Amino acid sequence: MWKTRKPAFEKAGWKNAIEAREWPANDPDMSLDDARYSVIRYFASSVENAQGPRVSDPRSGEIIESHIYWYHNVMNIFKHLYAIQVGHLDKRAQKPQFEEELVGKLIRYVAAHEVGHTIGVLHNFGSSIATPVEKLRDKEYIRKYGHTSSIMEYARFNYVAQEGDGIDPDHFIPRINDYDEWVIEWGYKLIFDKANEYEESRVLDSWVKKNENNPRLWYGVEQHPYDPRMNNEDLGDNQMKANEYGIKNLKKIMPLQVEWTKEEGKNYDLLNERYFWITVQLNWYFSHVVKYIGGIHETYKKSEQDGVIYEVTPKAKQKEAMDFLRRHLFETPKWLLQKDIISRIRPNFGTDAIRGLQENFLNAMLNTGTLQRLIECNTLDAANYSADEMVDDLRKIIWSEVDARKTN
Ligand SMILES: [Zn+2]
Repeated sequence: MWKTRKPAFEKAGWKNAIEAREWPANDPDMSLDDARYSVIRYFASSVENAQGPRVSDPRSGEIIESHIYWYHNVMNIFKHLYAIQVGHLDKRAQKPQFEEELVGKLIRYVAAHEVGHTIGVLHNFGSSIATPVEKLRDKEYIRKYGHTSSIMEYARFNYVAQEGDGIDPDHFIPRINDYDEWVIEWGYKLIFDKANEYEESRVLDSWVKKNENNPRLWYGVEQHPYDPRMNNEDLGDNQMKANEYGIKNLKKIMPLQVEWTKEEGKNYDLLNERYFWITVQLNWYFSHVVKYIGGIHETYKKSEQDGVIYEVTPKAKQKEAMDFLRRHLFETPKWLLQKDIISRIRPNFGTDAIRGLQENFLNAMLNTGTLQRLIECNTLDAANYSADEMVDDLRKIIWSEVDARKTN
């Protein structure tokens, strides 16, 4: 399946670990209720999701069986995201219906991610941080390493890539990568010469120790409230830099959406959905950046590992985030008010989107948790960004348009 790499299970010492077969049309001896069969079930449903739940033996943790639920419209999300994130670089995405070959590649990506869940692999929302932003534009680097070190990340398509970078569109899509191979090895490689689980766990700890400084094997939880390195839908090691490219691309594709979504005999529902997903994408960009403000890194460690667990996001980085929000959020993003789109979908959609974004992130900056962290971090070390300074900066940002009018 993956031509350039050895399957992850082979690296962990297992040959032909996963075998995929088509379910026979009429075999009375086979039943989906039979625990011996783990299947990918397709549902003709408008739900936009896919899941890979699993049933484990509570005594040993062994995964006994799993069915992946594949709702038909999950591909709808991925088609919108592909068009929004890399559509300007791939002609195949510049039309309402994608060709089967591209949809097949998107299905392969989502299916591999779901199979990852069924064999026990969690989301890794820290894996994208291992790729420096500028490397996301380097075609040789991307060919070799991909844009995220785990397929279990929500790092969809390479939205940092620009025209002229020459990246092969096949490499816009995540692949089974270094982190995934590492956790398969950690979870499945047999350890033969140890007498009990305690001795085995010491061997596992020694593997972790050996790899602790490899950023490509780093793990980040889902929905971390204040570590800006752990986000879904993000790319790269600096969200301000990465999302600057992302917004540049959104501005580029926005005026093309009436054309890209036009289908004979159809109304403007697809255009409406596409516009909605553009606002969702923008919301993600701001949510990544706002986490730098009052941000604290949390690096999981056992007591035998060196260093501390919690480290404050440097003040310069927090200021960089404030400046990003000033330029792209609080200076009205008028590019969202695209006349030929708004006049075809719904009055107020554009202004609702802008108001919603500004409200969301103003609340995020002023919520108790953010202010409390800023106060504590500045009290522990006066060099850290303070709540006073942040609120003062924010006041200047919000009133800058009014102030500018006064002086002119
Ligand atoms: Zn998942």
